[in-house]
Amino acid sequence: MKTTAHTILELAFDNSYARLPERFFARLDPTPVAAPKLIKLNVALAQQLGLDADELSSPEGVRMLAGNLVPPGAEPLAMAYAGHQFGSWVPQLGDGRAILLGEVVDQHGTRFDIQLKGSGLTPFSRSGDGRAWLGPVLREYIVSEAMAALGVPTTRALAAISSGEIVHREALMPGAVLTRVARSHIRIGTFQFFSARKDVDALRELTDYVIARHYPEAADAPIPSLAMLDAIVGRQAALVTRWQGIGFIHGVMNTDNMSVAGETIDYGPCAFMDTYHPATVFSSIDQMGRYAYQNQPGIAQWNLAQLAQALLPLIDDDVQTAIHHAQAVIDSYPERYEQAYMAVMRAKLGLLTAQDNDITLITDLLDCMAKNNADFTLTFRRLSMLSATNTDGNIAQDSPVRDLFEDPDAFDLWTVAWRQRLAQEASEDNKRRTAMSAVNPAFIPRNHQVEGVIQAAVKDEDFGPFEELVSVLAKPYTDQPTHHKYAIPPQPDEIVRQTFCGT
Ligand code: AMP
Ligand code: MG
Repeated sequence: MKTTAHTILELAFDNSYARLPERFFARLDPTPVAAPKLIKLNVALAQQLGLDADELSSPEGVRMLAGNLVPPGAEPLAMAYAGHQFGSWVPQLGDGRAILLGEVVDQHGTRFDIQLKGSGLTPFSRSGDGRAWLGPVLREYIVSEAMAALGVPTTRALAAISSGEIVHREALMPGAVLTRVARSHIRIGTFQFFSARKDVDALRELTDYVIARHYPEAADAPIPSLAMLDAIVGRQAALVTRWQGIGFIHGVMNTDNMSVAGETIDYGPCAFMDTYHPATVFSSIDQMGRYAYQNQPGIAQWNLAQLAQALLPLIDDDVQTAIHHAQAVIDSYPERYEQAYMAVMRAKLGLLTAQDNDITLITDLLDCMAKNNADFTLTFRRLSMLSATNTDGNIAQDSPVRDLFEDPDAFDLWTVAWRQRLAQEASEDNKRRTAMSAVNPAFIPRNHQVEGVIQAAVKDEDFGPFEELVSVLAKPYTDQPTHHKYAIPPQPDEIVRQTFCGT
């Protein structure tokens, strides 16, 4: 049963996407769920968006977040898009289990999509059931909110609802609905959808829309579509460097999972590395390691090249000229990536200046970590605490870090070069420690913790661990001694090596 609210849920919707041509989406209401119950409302995010947290957690608010009630002003729709999945072209994907309720504008004038994920069948559902189960909903809530707290551009989680329904996966699982908030849900695959249909009018409208919404400065460029591409390349390069800097592995970097707003989107089998190994892959379906940690920067460029391809008809009427322009932008990616990456890694090492051979210092440490099974997060966090002067080679002083390495001597060797480098810029311990602690997190959503939280919720309906993990991860750069267990790597028998899309 779907009803329209009349009194309390007065969200100030302004649905610009719903004003685009009808072939951009399918209009339909979410399918109500049997017995919606609020698992979690993100009160801080609600406030930031100017939404009333009390209203959202009221029975009427929960029905809205479950898709059982369409609030006034919402114009629900499922977006159309296509995409390359693991490199293979799929001409039609689209929101198969998500429905965009509408858009709101926050206090700062920033426009946000409010989308329900797990909200029932749509014309894009293909063989899926349109639903989500509790595990992926909790994973997305935990990880996307952790990313936001880490300062990485990302979609956000406004609420998690249990549906009171059973969802058929490998086993029977409790159903859930996630409310996702994003700068927009437009993907590289959205452009590809129209490109594949040779619908240049739609491509032009989509481009104008994305420029107005995300890249207004591109409107004044000689070739706005090219300027938009250039801006998207810049944001993607910056985004992936942030992932690399915290050991985040997205897991499914298909072109339909890449937001043109430059946010991390579509958290599926994503996970963070514990021990540093560049070839790390978690996703059960990524058998070739296409989306391994070390491949993420290159894959982002490959995806951007698909966007460039889709935009060609807008860049110039002459194909060769269009290709020439687009290629130049795509070719600029490696250098822009490298620059952004070096900035991230220098900050992680506590360097304030740039020197030519800094890359060697960085790769030597990473190589040493890989050879010695050192924990990525802890190595950098504890490195933040070391002193720049250990002239007497006092091993005990460095032990919090060196003990993370199977061969601690290998780390000692690296610290000689690091300290020489710090000496060259007269690095001050206190200042450097503060700066390094602000970029090297103490807490990341460690995979075994995330799995533990999901287990407790699914097996025992115990959401206490979920609450605690979410609250610890809200302050990732603050030492929280009482929550030490969330900072440490898994014991050998706790390691979780594989994650599942499990949608
Ligand atoms: P994802 O792997 O989450 O990026 O999803 C890829 C495509 O599969 C998208 O078009 C989704 O909407 C669709 N999809 C994933 N899970 C389901 C589901 N349970 N029901 C319907 N469509 C789904
Ligand atoms: Mg997706």
